[in-house]
Amino acid sequence: MMTKSQTLFERAKRVIPGGVNSPVRAFGSVGMNPRFICRGQKDRIFDEDGKEYIDFVGSWGPMILGHCHPAVTESVEQAVREGLSFGAATRREVEMAELICEMVPSVEMVRMVNSGTEAVMSAIRTARGYTGRNKIIKFAGCYHGHTDAMLVKAGSGLMTQGIPGSAGVPEGCTRDTLTAIYNDLDSVRELFAANPGEIAALIVEPVGANMGVVLPEEGFLEGLRGICDQEGALLIFDEVITGFRLAPDGAQGYYQITPDLTTFGKIIGGGMPVGAYGGRKEILSVVAPLGNVYQAGTLSGNPVAMAAGLAQLKILKDTPGFYDDLNRKSDAFFREMDRILTDGKVPHCLNHVGSLGCVFFTEQKVRDYTSAQSSDTEAFRSWFSYLLERGVYTAPSQFEALFLSGVHSEEDLAKVLQVVRDYVK
Ligand SMILES: *Cc1c(COP(=O)(O)O)cnc(C)c1O
Repeated sequence: MMTKSQTLFERAKRVIPGGVNSPVRAFGSVGMNPRFICRGQKDRIFDEDGKEYIDFVGSWGPMILGHCHPAVTESVEQAVREGLSFGAATRREVEMAELICEMVPSVEMVRMVNSGTEAVMSAIRTARGYTGRNKIIKFAGCYHGHTDAMLVKAGSGLMTQGIPGSAGVPEGCTRDTLTAIYNDLDSVRELFAANPGEIAALIVEPVGANMGVVLPEEGFLEGLRGICDQEGALLIFDEVITGFRLAPDGAQGYYQITPDLTTFGKIIGGGMPVGAYGGRKEILSVVAPLGNVYQAGTLSGNPVAMAAGLAQLKILKDTPGFYDDLNRKSDAFFREMDRILTDGKVPHCLNHVGSLGCVFFTEQKVRDYTSAQSSDTEAFRSWFSYLLERGVYTAPSQFEALFLSGVHSEEDLAKVLQVVRDYVK
């Protein structure tokens, strides 16, 4: 007999491409069928067949307070009763912008959008408008949403122009996107040297969290800051994952490096579709209606979305020791997982920082896209399905992060570690 999830997936495949509204949800890379989720509570999610999981996806990051946090739910309920959308200026947008600017000092002005993709697209347009230059540098393995210019496959040589990494993206859209190697400052210097005075901005995930988890090595982010200053290019931190995740002021606070522009998403929406981009006032002043960089959105700053995000950010700001506790708990969890895998002689590399972590099944130290690719994805598959069957829900892809939340209990984390112990046996 088919499970309810299987039945739904069959129905979905008839009317939605691949049965899903975002590719990784299809469980394609692990060769399985997706579980359809109907409910969440704190660190648990429940599927249509009544199976319960300890959740390490957290909607890919937004649920840092766990599912159905009462303050977030109440704030949303209040907003819903007042009207879903007006397409006019509202109080919550002002409060949201003030709160982001207060929590992240490098952000003096911020514009709300509806996704991380939109935030990046708009930040890049702003950087180009501000500098009057066209070229952008990104890093292989960093994901910045699905906007045309960011869907670039790294060419074989660094000097080659960007080759589209997706069908449907004309070469013209990626010609100005150059690709460097994560944790390799020389690769960045070479690109600047080959394109003097032409680079508008360099965009980076300050912690790589879309090729598994790859940490910036000592001096890497600092080096990027120095090079951008020297070359008159803007430094954009894509903090769609790391923003309000590693610290109240994101990776820029955690590593003490100040970018010119920052993009946000995921956590700032509390589970609603929200993105934002911000930075120095002088730069954001080129955005319409102040300046001549056009950017707009019918539902941007939506009252319900703002209500969810505001409630979540206020809790993150006002709960004493929230990040210390979360990071300490996560650190202990990932260290113990690492120790169990090492003792069990499982070839692996466990990268983690704060509440983000990833197990690569490789003997190599993973520090960039190439070393991430050395992971044995067959080994990942067996790891993933073992965990899933035992009620531990992780991302169905090797190249994604594990996300912990403030409500993952010591008890549940201990249960997961026991599952890992059983796995290595
Ligand atoms: C998720 C993500 C995006 C895209 O955000 P969407 O809301 O999915 O459009 C951009 N950048 C990074 C670093 C992300 O993790």
